[in-house]
Amino acid sequence: MIKVHNIMQRGRLFVLSGPSGAGKGTICAKIVEEGLAQLSVSMTTRAIRGKEIPNVSYFFVSDEEFDKTIEEDGFLEYASIYGHRYGTPKAPVLEAMSEGKDVILEIEMQGANQVKSNYDDAVLIFVLPPSLKILRERLEKRNSDSAEQIIKRTEATLSEIHRIKEYDYFVINGELDDAVETVKNIFMAVHDDPEAIKKVRKNKVGKAALKMIKKYDEEAKE
Ligand code: 5GP
Repeated sequence: MIKVHNIMQRGRLFVLSGPSGAGKGTICAKIVEEGLAQLSVSMTTRAIRGKEIPNVSYFFVSDEEFDKTIEEDGFLEYASIYGHRYGTPKAPVLEAMSEGKDVILEIEMQGANQVKSNYDDAVLIFVLPPSLKILRERLEKRNSDSAEQIIKRTEATLSEIHRIKEYDYFVINGELDDAVETVKNIFMAVHDDPEAIKKVRKNKVGKAALKMIKKYDEEAKE
């Protein structure tokens, strides 16, 4: 007799973190464009910037609204960064997952750790530019940060990189197309084989990651 499986598999959570200038946004957009996952829209108390679109880039809310969402247990995770608060609304993420869709969260490390402690099978990916020099150049080219902010952001990256072992994968974004391809492959590998992530965790932090930490540290001393 043929067995019919009509119980849909729950979607998975993917977290993408990394410094600004790492290309996370572009990578996420490609993943969504290719239908590999749905992107979660965060809530933030910071002001709208440049070409951002309300309710698409972020839900821009007041401090009161943010507090209310915390009280109602409406966040999957939330954190304070650079004096502003950011959080992932829980309901749309859980709904998408219950429909079998994978969801991608573009969030920073504090939030990533909260997700990891609540969802053991979440997949954590850290995206990094190939060097501190390239990171600085990208931030300067973007022209949205002051010289002081660029120093702050590169310092933050230096302390974050020492914690990349808290992530399951790290991807170096030198050539955007290659980085997108790598992230896509991670999505597909984990989607097709839920056990894949356990194998990665067994390997702990790889040699490539240690080499990268050393490279960034040496560059910072120059
Ligand atoms: P930005 O203000 O440049 O858009 O974002 C600042 C940082 O906040 C980025 O590292 C971004 O990934 C992170 N972020 C955006 N949304 C969320 C969120 O919902 N939760 C957490 N924890 N971080 C977020």
